[in-house]
Amino acid sequence: MAFREIAPGVLVWRYPVLDVNVTLILGGTGAVLVDTLSTPRQAAELEVAVRTVTDLPLTVVNTHAHFDHCFGNASFANCDIWAHEATANRLAENSETLTHRVYERWGSTPGLDGLLDVVVTPPTHQVRTSHTLDIGDRAVHLRHLGLGHSPGDLVVVVDDAVVAGDIVEEGAPPAFDDAYPLSWPDALAALLELCGDGPVVPGHGDVVNREFVERQRKDLATLDWTIREGHADGADVSAIAELALSRWPELGAASALEAVSRGFVELSGRS
Ligand SMILES: [Zn+2]
Repeated sequence: MAFREIAPGVLVWRYPVLDVNVTLILGGTGAVLVDTLSTPRQAAELEVAVRTVTDLPLTVVNTHAHFDHCFGNASFANCDIWAHEATANRLAENSETLTHRVYERWGSTPGLDGLLDVVVTPPTHQVRTSHTLDIGDRAVHLRHLGLGHSPGDLVVVVDDAVVAGDIVEEGAPPAFDDAYPLSWPDALAALLELCGDGPVVPGHGDVVNREFVERQRKDLATLDWTIREGHADGADVSAIAELALSRWPELGAASALEAVSRGFVELSGRS
């Protein structure tokens, strides 16, 4: 079966293309689906997998605006779709422009055929800081913990399980395309306050726990002060990226460069 139960009524499908996680939360009167994958074909597959598990009315949540988490929304257009307001603003942009931008970078990736057929479908409901969905006998909390992996990350908390989206990443270094590396550690500190001893579902990779989140927070905090210190000393982006990489080798050279560039943008106040 596609979905695997990781806590009572909380199921995760680790989808092989891009190793992305989708999560299904079951309540007494409804279910919540967190993220919708990348293409119409993937979303159709997801819909079948969801309906194999439950017939309950579905509410959808997008953790953020990156295509691999929300370009499947059109298949769930008859559901309420919740996201942070920055995510909603991004997804309200011209659908063709958004899909072409993704296609240019990812179009030749196996399993991502059909990207140009995506009709980008914005959320129907927006969250600024927090909102709670009532699905019968359990409350599903949507929380924005500040800037981090993107301008509009939402995390989903149900009992002691946390669905973190890409502010936590397993199996690959965190992605910094439109990230805020100087704010990200604070978002993870806030996430740790929400984490109990339960599972944490990262945006990609294997399900983790609070110890993993704590390690990722420390790595991001090291990156944060490496950027700030280097910037204050007048060092250039590549020199700081090299230093960041020596302190956090798993980051990889390309991510280190991107992270430092984004840190400079953040320091300049241009975001
Ligand atoms: Zn992302």
